[in-house]
Amino acid sequence: MLKLTPGKTCIFCGETKGQKIVAQKIRGMMVTKERNNGIKNHRIEITKGGQTEIYYFSYWGFEDKMSSEIIDRAKQLIQNLKHPWFCQKCGKRICSICGEPINYPVGSDIIFESGCTTHIPIIPADLGCINQKCKKYRKFDWFKSKI
Ligand SMILES: [Zn+2]
Ligand SMILES: [Zn+2]
Repeated sequence: MLKLTPGKTCIFCGETKGQKIVAQKIRGMMVTKERNNGIKNHRIEITKGGQTEIYYFSYWGFEDKMSSEIIDRAKQLIQNLKHPWFCQKCGKRICSICGEPINYPVGSDIIFESGCTTHIPIIPADLGCINQKCKKYRKFDWFKSKI
């Protein structure tokens, strides 16, 4: 996977809250310089200073979400050297009470503003949600220390 900084919003719904997810077991997306076997690939040519580079936008899952419009949006981001990502609502890591993002999106690879990614493992605990009005709200600064 190439290290690119993330686009501003969720590629699907425009959401900005919660962590920015790039991959889970059943759905995900990546940007690479080579084709990826077994998943869908979209070729993107980027020409800079007379030189053309080939990138691939690849994804798995999202059967109901990945329209040609979304793929065009992803290609445009990659043209600008940004990484497409999806939000916790689109990645189904939301609070069972209020529907806002949970603090700790288990089983997800997330991308930070720096372009670094990390895997959030599955843990047997409920670390609450980001919504201060929800009874599951918990203050959670763990990610701040990682960025
Ligand atoms: Zn979304
Ligand atoms: Zn909640």
